[in-house]
Amino acid sequence: MIGAQKHGALVFQQCAVRGLDIAAGRVSGVWTERGLIKTSRVICAAGAWTSMFCRRHGIDLPLGNVIGTAFRTQPIEQAIAMPLYTPGFACRPQLDGSYTVSVSGRGRLEPGAQGLRYARQFYPTFKSRRKNLTLNLGITPFFNGPEAMGRWEFDRMSPFERMRILDPAADAHIVEEGLAAMRREYPALANLKLAQSWGGMIDSTPDAIPVISTVAKLPGLVLSAGYSAHGFGIGPGAGRLAADLATDATPIVDPRPYRYSRLVDGSGLETPGMM
Ligand SMILES: Cc1cc2nc3c(=O)[nH]c(=O)nc-3n(C[C@H](O)[C@H](O)[C@H](O)COP(=O)(O)OP(=O)(O)OC[C@H]3O[C@@H](n4cnc5c(N)ncnc54)[C@H](O)[C@@H]3O)c2cc1C
Repeated sequence: MIGAQKHGALVFQQCAVRGLDIAAGRVSGVWTERGLIKTSRVICAAGAWTSMFCRRHGIDLPLGNVIGTAFRTQPIEQAIAMPLYTPGFACRPQLDGSYTVSVSGRGRLEPGAQGLRYARQFYPTFKSRRKNLTLNLGITPFFNGPEAMGRWEFDRMSPFERMRILDPAADAHIVEEGLAAMRREYPALANLKLAQSWGGMIDSTPDAIPVISTVAKLPGLVLSAGYSAHGFGIGPGAGRLAADLATDATPIVDPRPYRYSRLVDGSGLETPGMM
């Protein structure tokens, strides 16, 4: 952010974008809770909210939201010096002797209207990952959060303001499994204790490949979403590709694997992705 500001970028925090301003069939600005910003190019990188945002403009974006769990341990004498992935846990040692940990592939589904809308596209992934997923059915996600139904106007409070911070609960049983696997595989960690756990919503595409793409039906819009649990790792390159597309520069990599159109015309969705 500081780097962008050094190049003249203006950063508005705590300011939701309610929707796009459209003129003559193309993007002409963004409506924010503080008013209109005129622009001919917009990159929408709204994570788990991206599909809802697109739906308001008649753009179909099949994203499935999976709630992942991560946790931090209390500091302990170091037994694992490097980031490590095992089938039972993935961890990164921290300088203070603690570990941040996740349990690969595990998660919770709490489908709302969006989950039902895209159930067909996600069924192959769901089937292949079923044993790693907990399914929570309820009505709350139909009314609150990024899976909710409904439409909003740009001069009124939007769903993005009603829930500014998406903070789903962690799954205690996943934390316990991760801790148990670490203690089991590293006897020196027998006394490992939990410090903190948290949940996070993972926006996935049906093939687990992000969408970094223009959208033919709405010139001026670039989508950057659906990172399917890999957004930290590929963030720098992904950001560069989105910027290239928004500025009509030669793309840093072949943008075709990330094209939006594959999600709506079905091309390239043969292999179920990871959840
Ligand atoms: C438990 C867990 C573990 C993970 N582990 C890894 C890992 O080890 N490696 C890895 O590479 N990735 C990992 N990920 C995935 C990674 O966190 C995401 O892929 C990455 O954060 C996606 O970045 P993003 O910028 O696309 O979306 P986000 O980080 O979700 O950011 C979207 C932002 O847009 C804002 N926003 C949404 N709508 C609006 C609006 N209308 N107006 C204004 N702002 C809006 C949101 O508030 C949010 O700040 C993990 C995720 C979870 C949950």
